[in-house]
Amino acid sequence: SSGSQYLTGDPSAIAEFIEKFDTFLFDCDGVLWSGSQSFEGTAETLEMLRNKGKRLVFVSNNSTKSREEYKKKFDSMNINCNVEEIFGSSYSAAIYISRKLRLSPPKNKVYVLGVAGIETELDSESIPHVGGTDESLRREMTGDDYEKIASGEMLDPDVGIVLTGLDFHVNYLKISLGMAYLRRGAMFLATNIDTTLPSNKTLFPGAGATSAPLIAASGKEPLALGKPSQAMMDAIEGKFKLDRKRTCMVGDRLNTDIQFGIEGGLGGTLLVLTGVSTKEDFLGGGKEVVPMAYVDKLADLASK
Ligand code: PLP
Ligand code: CA
Repeated sequence: SSGSQYLTGDPSAIAEFIEKFDTFLFDCDGVLWSGSQSFEGTAETLEMLRNKGKRLVFVSNNSTKSREEYKKKFDSMNINCNVEEIFGSSYSAAIYISRKLRLSPPKNKVYVLGVAGIETELDSESIPHVGGTDESLRREMTGDDYEKIASGEMLDPDVGIVLTGLDFHVNYLKISLGMAYLRRGAMFLATNIDTTLPSNKTLFPGAGATSAPLIAASGKEPLALGKPSQAMMDAIEGKFKLDRKRTCMVGDRLNTDIQFGIEGGLGGTLLVLTGVSTKEDFLGGGKEVVPMAYVDKLADLASK
């Protein structure tokens, strides 16, 4: 047998499974919704768990949204959620920088290769930053830029960290600045390094893809702070005071969500088949990452 328990259509097995846990960590895209489309029964299933006294935490690798922006997405789909329950990879990166690295001036500034969600979360931890949505960087590199980057004139001397996430405006100038900071010894962090971004019908380039030019040019690998990074698990544990053995990770992707839960020593992992990974990816033996249990869809947990 595969060692993974199929729960769909088995109410007593579902009840027994749910009872094992006090806290459920939920991946968002592919579990609660797909893109802008909520899955049927998401809100009701989460309410059922809340009514049983379970604590819910929403753990997403999406670096483009701050927690406040995520909350709006929940609201738009009529899914009940508190902003304090949301834990995105941009927030994870901000927490790591402020509470783990504890850099002090003058080398405490972050050069961002990414969008506004990252900046908002850095602001929430009072971390100074440059780059990011700076519109003056959305252009071709000039001869003058080459000179000023090489001489250091165009570089902020306080930058001690380069942080990358999904950037919709990645260009040569921004990569050159990131590379220059890394060559000067800045630490290299990433919100997440998922190479692809699933959509309903196909895949698009993810944060790992828009960061790839900087990784290639610098010859350095970033420390990624989204799932399956245990830095994110540690940050979640610190904030919510988890009992890992009584916590279950629910996700749609084996190599991020399920890996995250297994590596973190959680009591349970549950795969839903409404997202990226398929049954063939973990059934049949000899597979590396196998969830403790799986369901066809999240709402199966609430079926009678
Ligand atoms: N990154 C981006 C930019 C996304 O839009 C998404 C999904 O919408 C993800 C990552 C994956 O998010 P999750 O971890 O919630 O599946
Ligand atoms: Ca997902």
